[in-house]
Amino acid sequence: MRVVVLGGGYGGLLTTRKLEDRLPDGVELLLVDDTGDHLVQHELHRAIRRPSFTDAISIPLTELTERATVRVADVEAVDREERVVELDGGDSIEYDAAVVAFGAETAYYGIEGLEEYATPLKRLEHAAAVRREFEAVLEAGGGEVVVGGAGLSGVQVAGELAQYARDEGVESHVSVTLLEQRSDIAPSFPANFRDAVRDELRERDVDIRTETTVTAVDDGTVSLDDGEHAYDQFVWTGGITGNHGLGGDRPSVRADLRIDDRTFGIGDAVEITDAEGTVVPAAALAAVRASETVAENVTRVVEAAREGEPRPRLKQWVFDTPGWLVSVGDGAVAQLGPEVFTGAAANVIKSSVGVTYLAEHGSLRRAVSVVQEDLRDL
Ligand SMILES: Cc1cc2nc3c(=O)[nH]c(=O)nc-3n(C[C@H](O)[C@H](O)[C@H](O)COP(=O)(O)OP(=O)(O)OC[C@H]3O[C@@H](n4cnc5c(N)ncnc54)[C@H](O)[C@@H]3O)c2cc1C
Repeated sequence: MRVVVLGGGYGGLLTTRKLEDRLPDGVELLLVDDTGDHLVQHELHRAIRRPSFTDAISIPLTELTERATVRVADVEAVDREERVVELDGGDSIEYDAAVVAFGAETAYYGIEGLEEYATPLKRLEHAAAVRREFEAVLEAGGGEVVVGGAGLSGVQVAGELAQYARDEGVESHVSVTLLEQRSDIAPSFPANFRDAVRDELRERDVDIRTETTVTAVDDGTVSLDDGEHAYDQFVWTGGITGNHGLGGDRPSVRADLRIDDRTFGIGDAVEITDAEGTVVPAAALAAVRASETVAENVTRVVEAAREGEPRPRLKQWVFDTPGWLVSVGDGAVAQLGPEVFTGAAANVIKSSVGVTYLAEHGSLRRAVSVVQEDLRDL
């Protein structure tokens, strides 16, 4: 029998590691990823200001797996009826159970000029492009930087660019504007967290404009529902859509995380409603926490299939989180239930969470380099 995990991000990697321990002997485990590296994506914005960070947040999947075979390939399609994965280059892989974990793609919503003129932020090359564009703004003596979309990635990239301007001593010549269609930044997150993030952004002179919709973009101007905004750099973090591996579809799954009898979904690739009816936010934290249930359910399905038994009873997932944690330039916001920490306390929490993740799932060398970077922020 063969189990395939498609995508080596948070959901895919952690599910693979759990399956390595749980799958019965003789079951082949294959992890397919288009880059072959695990990207610690929730730290990606930090590689804009500090390119040296790139090495710490991109880890070869072969270093992180033991039993699983890693295959570097782009998944072009999943034929769930035939249980076959189609790869670029024409190869195909049959499976007995699959985990769709290839994340989402940036959504452009058909807005005129958006994909052509804006730079997204999902991959390492995007962080490098955002840095290059910001350097061009600096070389020109300053300018207008616009970030569209104020979710977890948008607030952090806006904070990072505002901090970059401060580091260079040119904050009076660079303006950073954060646009959000809804009535508040980080709209899917708790109010105390949103308030603290807003304060941190304002402290860095980020101009926050909520209830503002981007309607078109050209070479130098963002058209808005209430006017226009000239830009020298435009970063788009305004939403996600389904991966091309599922034809752009982002299927809805319920608490058993099942797309069909043999295919499961985790992380940003799917829209999850948990056992308590909560629509789970697209976040690294959610993908990490769902991996236990997905690994358990895949194991139950495989064991039942091997025994020729009918569909097994599946575990139901409830999303619970201790809180949320973001960096805003050299600052940080950590929300733990009713408590919100900023400043040095939040930086210490941020550092320890990053270090724990990398030490457990990356390597000690990388964990140490994160500590060194974080200590510079204190
Ligand atoms: C700048 C930024 C900051 C963020 N900050 C936070 C934060 O503070 N907290 C938080 O919880 N979340 C944060 N997020 C969101 C978080 O990173 C995502 O929710 C998370 O990465 C989703 O995990 P995943 O495993 O579903 O997919 P991903 O991490 O996106 O991994 C998908 C993997 O699949 C591979 N892949 C993609 N398509 C294919 C294909 N067709 N075939 C083969 N392989 C493929 C990719 O290369 C990648 O390795 C942030 C995101 C960004 C961009």
